[in-house]
Amino acid sequence: MSNIQAEKILLHTCCGPCAEYPVQELLAADYAPTLYYFNPNIQPQVEWQRRYESLQKFSEITDLPLIAEGSSETGRWLEIESSGIDRCRYCYETRLEKAAQFAHSHGFPVFTTTLLVSPYQQRDLIIEAGRKLAAKYGLEFLAADWRPGYRQGQQMAREHGLYRQRYCGCIISLGESSFKDKIKKEHDQLIRSLDKAKNS
Ligand code: SF4
Repeated sequence: MSNIQAEKILLHTCCGPCAEYPVQELLAADYAPTLYYFNPNIQPQVEWQRRYESLQKFSEITDLPLIAEGSSETGRWLEIESSGIDRCRYCYETRLEKAAQFAHSHGFPVFTTTLLVSPYQQRDLIIEAGRKLAAKYGLEFLAADWRPGYRQGQQMAREHGLYRQRYCGCIISLGESSFKDKIKKEHDQLIRSLDKAKNS
């Protein structure tokens, strides 16, 4: 066991599968991560809940604390898209700002995000947002490059039985997914079974 005192780090977490590899690396580097789920870009709400439940399972497996805030906000993303603002830049800034605020008010000197494991995300924009927010809130942003471990992390998620999504998150990305019909059917089924459970 290491004698080094683990440093607290707030890990903004988009989903369970993307947390696998970063958490492994952070623990190996003697960090003590807290998982922070703030993702209003995950739409619709039934998908937000599905990814959250998968992350809860991961939190139980790893015995790491998990904090969740907010909910799905489809309307806000549709407004951004129609206003011509770069929606992905907005998405990263919105999520990381909330994480930075939480880190600042809860005594985390460092924060980072699982988005840095994905080869499908825009790393430059994420780092730019993270560094800007770190300066604003007097924090450090850990700009790790976890992309080489992406496939390993996905395999770990498979072994842990975590739900692995097939679109980025917002309703626009769902519309662009080649799996959209299948995913929408799954959403309908989930909504029906939730309604049934409520009414029984
Ligand atoms: S595509 Fe992904 S990163 Fe871009 S706005 Fe949608 S959810 Fe956010």
